[in-house]
Amino acid sequence: MKARAQPPCRPRLTPEQVDALNAEAYALRMSDTPRALRLAQQAHEQALAIDHPRGLAYALLRWSLCEFILGQPVAPLQARLDRAHSLLEALGEIDGHLDALNLQALIQARQGDYEQALHLDQRALELARLHQASHAESRALNNMAVTRLTQGQFPEALELLQLSLALAEHNGSIVDQAYALGQMGQVLQGIGEMDLAAEHLQRSLHCARQTQDLARQATSALDLGTLLSKLGQHAEACLLLDEALTLSRRTGNVNDLGQALLGLGQSCLARGAVDAALAAFEEARPLALSVGDSPSLCSIEMGLADVWQARNDLPQAQGALERALAHATKGRLTALASQAHRALSELAERRADHALALQHYKAHHACEQRLLGEHSQQRLRGLFVRQQAQALSQELQAARQADQEKQALLTQLSAQADLLRQLSHEDALTGLANRRWLDLLLEQECERAARFRHPLSLAMLDLDHFKAVNDRFGHAVGDAVLRQLARLLRDHCRRADVVARYGGEEFTLILVEAPLPLASQLCDKLRQQIERFDWRSLHPDLHGITVSMGLAGNAEAHTPEALCALADERLYQAKGEGRNCVRPTGLLADSR
Ligand code: GH3
Ligand code: MG
Ligand code: MG
Repeated sequence: MKARAQPPCRPRLTPEQVDALNAEAYALRMSDTPRALRLAQQAHEQALAIDHPRGLAYALLRWSLCEFILGQPVAPLQARLDRAHSLLEALGEIDGHLDALNLQALIQARQGDYEQALHLDQRALELARLHQASHAESRALNNMAVTRLTQGQFPEALELLQLSLALAEHNGSIVDQAYALGQMGQVLQGIGEMDLAAEHLQRSLHCARQTQDLARQATSALDLGTLLSKLGQHAEACLLLDEALTLSRRTGNVNDLGQALLGLGQSCLARGAVDAALAAFEEARPLALSVGDSPSLCSIEMGLADVWQARNDLPQAQGALERALAHATKGRLTALASQAHRALSELAERRADHALALQHYKAHHACEQRLLGEHSQQRLRGLFVRQQAQALSQELQAARQADQEKQALLTQLSAQADLLRQLSHEDALTGLANRRWLDLLLEQECERAARFRHPLSLAMLDLDHFKAVNDRFGHAVGDAVLRQLARLLRDHCRRADVVARYGGEEFTLILVEAPLPLASQLCDKLRQQIERFDWRSLHPDLHGITVSMGLAGNAEAHTPEALCALADERLYQAKGEGRNCVRPTGLLADSR
């Protein structure tokens, strides 16, 4: 018999090499979790072999984090994490200690122990503040907000997220901004502010795309895609969900992958792409099964039922709906069970099985009753029927009180939403600074320029004959022109300049450190770039897009209002002198 091959004996690593493995595992945790997991396990083995406690602690920590991200069973993971936690605390490793607390809180929240999760986050928050670890502080705030959101405590969640966002903005941390904005999007959806939610998710995605955090990119794209799909914007939703799909395949995040597939399937169905929908649902099913996600399983089966109905295969549709109902019942998901019964009832009717149709209709009705039963108004109505005078007055009082509380909550929420609107800086169409933000920045820049005696110019830009573009090609093309113009302005202005949408088809540039002649030259270059751009990429017949600009410098106008008024006057002049030009011209300004 041949001797069995010996396993290759790995050379021992130095403590620095173990640290490097841990660092790499951390860096890859979001972008390639399975590989990060292997690295952490390797670091663990090596740290044990060379007796390197710090390396061991971080290896255990990264190991459990990767397992958590991959949705693996909690018990072994938690044991490893507890060991990491006590080691890190004993070693005085603040960052590691914070990471451990953070992960413990996430685990508690995933298991439904929200009190414990909040308690752990609170500890992390205090520790982070004590050591001025702002990233950890922002993360703790975010996690607390997620827990509040899960419990339906929207105002509390928003308050925490506003703190987190302000902190992230103050520190210039784009990643933290992406997380805070993403969560805000979720909260806003929860209170029915769909447009505002979409705006926040858009901003979150925009931030996430500037970072290496693929998992956040995936989640932002997923959330925005899912929301747009709900709003009936299926084409755009499909693009985003597709992006989320590609990203979560790379990160190995089963949850996001499953959700992206589910959303994609639903959007495909809505667009009539039945084959694509079927493929997406079928790929999503084993993923949802592997993590025991009943709500998704139920939605997947209902999606499949629609696919089979679209193909006129009623027995298959029936099977899918029965599985959907089983998942809903198992997960005690009344709303989904109600939908499944209703779909089964309609299907039975299509198959002319009236007895079964009635049976499912009754079950559907019972589910709806149960759902409504939780509503105080409904309780009240039931009481009128029963005519129990005494109980009625008690219930009435309780209902009034509940109503008052609800009113107070609504007032609070709408105030929060107003605040958010004020806090939001971005123009939704172009992603540029909006008018409100422009006003603030202009004030700041003027003040700074005056204080340091630096030159500053302001340009007002207006598209020429833009109404004709809308009239001829429609508003969608008009919007695309505005977006493309915004991109050109952003790409060709200097980094420090401010580019804003003033409103409609008018844009404003704050050109810092630029006296009028230089500003005029810069603007004329911009004007030429816009004129030369191949607008046919937006529509085959689109051409001749030009802009007119008016400029003012702080040597001649000293307040924001005066700058705007003068630039506007010159824009009007540029329009009068034939459009597609900049006033004053660089030459004129030179020979002042
Ligand atoms: P002028 O060269 O004198 O500026 O001509 P104009 O047609 O550009 O100017 P006018 O002020 O008559 O029309 C501006 C048009 O801009 C009217 C409006 O339909 C369009 N517009 C404003 N905001 C938007 C927008 O958000 N999307 C689209 N598609 N069009 C917009
Ligand atoms: Mg105009
Ligand atoms: Mg115009």
